[in-house]
Amino acid sequence: MSYQIKFEKTSSPKQKPDQNNLGFGNYFTDHMFIMDYTEGKGWHDPRIVPYAPLSLDPSTMVLHYGQAIFEGLKAYKAKDGRILLFRPHKNMERVNISNDRLCIPPIDIDFAVEATKTLVNLEKDWIPTAEGTSLYIRPFIISTDPYLGVRPSNTYKFMIILSPVGAYYPEGINPVKIYVESNYVRAVKGGIGYAKTPGNYASSLKAQMEAKKKGYTQVLWLDGIEKKYIEEVGTMNVFFKIKGEIITPSLEGSILAGITRDSTIELLKFWGIPVTERKLSIEEVYEAQANGTLDEAFGTGTAAVISPIGELNWNENKITINKGKIGDISARIYDTITGIQSGSIEDKFGWAVEVK
Ligand SMILES: *Cc1c(COP(=O)(O)O)cnc(C)c1O
Repeated sequence: MSYQIKFEKTSSPKQKPDQNNLGFGNYFTDHMFIMDYTEGKGWHDPRIVPYAPLSLDPSTMVLHYGQAIFEGLKAYKAKDGRILLFRPHKNMERVNISNDRLCIPPIDIDFAVEATKTLVNLEKDWIPTAEGTSLYIRPFIISTDPYLGVRPSNTYKFMIILSPVGAYYPEGINPVKIYVESNYVRAVKGGIGYAKTPGNYASSLKAQMEAKKKGYTQVLWLDGIEKKYIEEVGTMNVFFKIKGEIITPSLEGSILAGITRDSTIELLKFWGIPVTERKLSIEEVYEAQANGTLDEAFGTGTAAVISPIGELNWNENKITINKGKIGDISARIYDTITGIQSGSIEDKFGWAVEVK
C-alpha cells in the first residue's frame, strides 16, 4: 500500500516547555497525524495537521462503548544528532493484535511506522535533549460512528500525537513500593487483558487509588480466577530473580505482551543468564524471600524502562527486596536498553530505528 501524507502547517507554533520540568504527558507538539477508516473504502486521507481538539458528535461510539486501542513508544535524540525510535514495528504489530480483539480493522504496519517517522521528523525540534528526557509517541484509534446501538463501528480515526516527557524518575532510578492486589482483578483469560485498550485502564483505577492511599506506587495484579498467580503491574510487566534464575509470568491471554519485556528476555538470553516464562505464584515469591533466594524484582515498560521493586505488600505481609536497592541485573538491563535507545551504546540487535 502506498499513501501520500498531506501536510497542513500550523500558523501559530507553540512555545516549547522548559526541559527540566516536563513531567509526563503534559505538553503536546504543534502537529498531529490523522487517518480515517470508512467501511468499504478502507483507511484513507492520511494527513498531518495542526494539533487541535477534535469535534465529535455526542453519540460517537467510542465515548459510550470504549471501542479503542492505543500504543506508547519514544523518540530520542542521540548525542550525534540522530533521531532514534525503539522497535517501532513491534508497536504497530501490537496495534493489529489489539485491533483484532476490539473488532477494529487492521492498519498497514509499515505505513504506520512511516507515518510515525514523518511526524517525528517534522517535530524534531520538540525532542528534548536533557538526560533521561524523550519525545513520547502516542498512536491511538477510536471508533467514530454517531450511533448508540452496540456493534463494531463502521468508521474510525487513527491518530498519532507527540509529547515531550521528562525523566520518569527525576531523582534517579529508585525502587518502588508495590501493593499486591487481592480484591480487584484487572483481566481474565478470554477477556481483553492482552490488548492495549482503554477499558483495562478504566478497570484498574480504583485499585490504583486505594493502593496510593496506603502509600504504594502501583498495584501488582494477580490472576482473576484464583488470585494466586502473578500477572503484571499497572503499566509494566514484572520479573523476579529467584535462585539465580529470572522468572516472568508467561503470556496466557490476560497480560499485555510488553516490548520492554521482550527486549529484556532477549538481552538476558544473549548474556547467558537463565530466564524462564512460566506461571509464578505470589506464594513462591514470598517463600523465596523467606529462604533468602529472592534477589531482585523489577517492572519493565516504555515509560520507566526498568523500575526496581523495593517492597511488596500482600495482605499486609510486607517484604523488602534486595534491601530496597536496585539489583545488578535491573541496573544492567536499564543501562543497556536506555543506551541503545539513546544511541550511546552499540545496538547489536537492530532495535534502534533511525528517523531520517
Ligand atoms: C503498555 C503496557 C505495558 C508495557 O509494554 P511496553 O511495550 O514494554 O511499553 C505493560 N502492561 C500494560 C498493561 C501496558 O499497557
